[in-house]
Amino acid sequence: MAIKIAIASGKGGTGKTTVSVNLYHFINRLVTPKVQLVDCDVEEPNDLLFFKDSEEVTKETINQLIPRIDNDKCTYCRKCTEWCEYNAIVVIPPVEFAEVNGSLCHSCGACLVACEFDAMKEYPEPIGDVTFYKTQDGNGLAEGRLKIGSAMQTMLIKELKKRVPDDAEWILFDAPPGTSCPVVETVSDADYIVLVTEPTPFGLHDLKLMIEMLKDIKQPFGVIVNKAGLGNNDVYEYLEKENIEIIGKIPFDKDYASKYAAGNLLKDISPETEQRYKEIIEKLKTKL
Ligand code: SF4
Ligand code: SF4
Repeated sequence: MAIKIAIASGKGGTGKTTVSVNLYHFINRLVTPKVQLVDCDVEEPNDLLFFKDSEEVTKETINQLIPRIDNDKCTYCRKCTEWCEYNAIVVIPPVEFAEVNGSLCHSCGACLVACEFDAMKEYPEPIGDVTFYKTQDGNGLAEGRLKIGSAMQTMLIKELKKRVPDDAEWILFDAPPGTSCPVVETVSDADYIVLVTEPTPFGLHDLKLMIEMLKDIKQPFGVIVNKAGLGNNDVYEYLEKENIEIIGKIPFDKDYASKYAAGNLLKDISPETEQRYKEIIEKLKTKL
């Protein structure tokens, strides 16, 4: 069974993606080449930017089954609207109008069971793509990319995770930012969750929300403080008071933006940062 680590943060901009990609890089070098990176930030996947030499291996369109109503069979009884928990069906009997709103539908199938007149049938609608890339080292990168306008982030993440091959020894899930359903879907089956934060007031606020969520779903976690050296001590004091472990501190890199723009983040790692990642991986091993 693969070891599953999710990397998450309460907000964007903390460096969660950088941490995910560096963990992939160093686990490949120091632990096993059988490591798989999975970009679950399906609204804005950007792990691929770190792998200039990657090659696309497979690309699959993921469909959602959406019911359509056959007006010739529909009696406008409205039973389907009562069964739909997502308010995705509009039926107006006086004007003989009946329609499913595909962007609200969660494909639960309840309306198909409810309809006694065989007036509903399901049709596939694309919600996004799942793509696998070969990277120079490691098993590679899997990425979900949501179709513009689709609200099916959670469904796409579920389908992406289902397709990750089981030959990896370590699987790293780069979660979307925030604390909503797509994040819960990403982290819910992880063996351990790495929370990435920055030592700023905004970082602390969102970290607290994330910690509350993880306590609710009873998942084990530790914190990486990224951009250490910036900001103030509030994050450290909060974590100490709550008895939450810091599993690593990554120093602030003033050249980060220029390296990022040049796509050199994995080539140009300072010895100090490299040492910090080595220590983090050693700590992670003790958690599993
Ligand atoms: S499949 Fe479920 S969510 Fe979609 S319209 Fe039918 S009842 Fe509503
Ligand atoms: S339950 Fe069937 S027949 Fe009744 S309104 Fe819905 S689609 Fe039409």
